[in-house]
Amino acid sequence: MSSNSQAFQAIKGTYDILPADAPTVLAVREAFAAPLRRAGYGYIETPVFEDINLFSRGVGESTDIVTKEMFAFTTLGGERIALRPEGTASVLRATLEANLHRVGNLPVKLWYSGSQYRYEKPQKGRYRQFWQVGAEAIGAEDPALDAELIILADDAYRSLGLRNFRILLNSLGDRECRPVYRAALQDFLRGLDLDEDTRRRAEINPLRVLDDKRPDVQAQLVGAPMLVDYLCEGCKAYHEQVRELLTAAGVAFEDDPKLVRGLDYYTRTTFEFVHDGLGSQSAVGGGGRYDGLSEMIGGPALPSVGWALGVDRTVLALEAEGITLDAPATTDVFAVPLGEQARRVLFGTVTQLRREGVSADIVYGGKGIKAAMKAADRSGARWAIVAGDRDLAEGNVQLKDLSTGDQTPVALDVLVTTLKEKLQ
Ligand code: ATP
Ligand code: MG
Repeated sequence: MSSNSQAFQAIKGTYDILPADAPTVLAVREAFAAPLRRAGYGYIETPVFEDINLFSRGVGESTDIVTKEMFAFTTLGGERIALRPEGTASVLRATLEANLHRVGNLPVKLWYSGSQYRYEKPQKGRYRQFWQVGAEAIGAEDPALDAELIILADDAYRSLGLRNFRILLNSLGDRECRPVYRAALQDFLRGLDLDEDTRRRAEINPLRVLDDKRPDVQAQLVGAPMLVDYLCEGCKAYHEQVRELLTAAGVAFEDDPKLVRGLDYYTRTTFEFVHDGLGSQSAVGGGGRYDGLSEMIGGPALPSVGWALGVDRTVLALEAEGITLDAPATTDVFAVPLGEQARRVLFGTVTQLRREGVSADIVYGGKGIKAAMKAADRSGARWAIVAGDRDLAEGNVQLKDLSTGDQTPVALDVLVTTLKEKLQ
């Protein structure tokens, strides 16, 4: 290594998904996606970066995400860009841009899978690049839709074997009842002994203060007015239907009157999936109804509901519950040629096996027989094809069962069919 070269490391708050962990990560994404596909959600991909204003308006000027967590930059052409901190604003932008809400049935049901970027304080379960699978049902107001999404997420976590999670549920009211509550809460908060920052938050976004995790703040919040006591008849009835549908589906939930998403366009149903084995980064997924968002980003009224499930934290939740998912074997057959002629022939065999759907690999780099057999064992393959030039002169290879050590000669011209039969 030359003196000015240094080993690089992944940027703070990011990490590599290595082959040993990849099967679990992929299985989690698939487990999240499978129930959505069965419920008629179509897959959508949006760019990793967008006009920064989409997020300041679509996520909200007063949120932590926009005030301090955004990865923003100016391009060489002078455009103000941000890496996406979440998926909903982009998906809604794409829906409006492509007029999906005009050409098909409502709701437009969409799901996505991808990385998100937030400039957070990195720690276990909290990264600057992390992965979410998300779902949005756009353009319909129906308690069945809210219930459907919660049920689908519950099914997804359960299909992975997870059990130690809880669903927290609340209603945030609507344009009619929330302002009344907001004013009452603000009155209450003004009477408390809060620091400067929290006072400011109480003026801009009072519901967010309820979510403050600090014990001294929580202690003062005892006796604060609760939204549930201010819900209008419409919101009450709507919420009751969501609760009944969940109960009928056998999905248990806890009413949490303090659960908030403190933005004006989040309305009615709001929920979070929390896992009890993760310490303070306990939210593995969350979502809710956002009836005002479309109008906030220049669209028509499109009442919608959605969620985003965290892949990284769900992987940690699996670890916490001691669940290991069966990883599919990567290699079925491993070829060990002994000699130059054998190398050419077995390379052809491996190519043919792969083309016929059998996973196969070969020893590379001109290793000796001992190192080559060790490589075969390490590959995890069930079968090794071992052949020297003399075997091949007789039209044979040795087929070795790596689990028992038994070895039998097989004619080269029936090798592929023989292996395919054995692997069935
Ligand atoms: P938290 O309260 O933990 O910061 P959040 O409310 O910011 O979570 P959402 O925006 O609702 O999270 O995102 C949905 C899910 O994405 C979360 O429940 C969590 O599982 C995951 N998530 C959010 N931020 C991160 C992060 N920085 N690193 C890893 N996963 C994250
Ligand atoms: Mg956060």
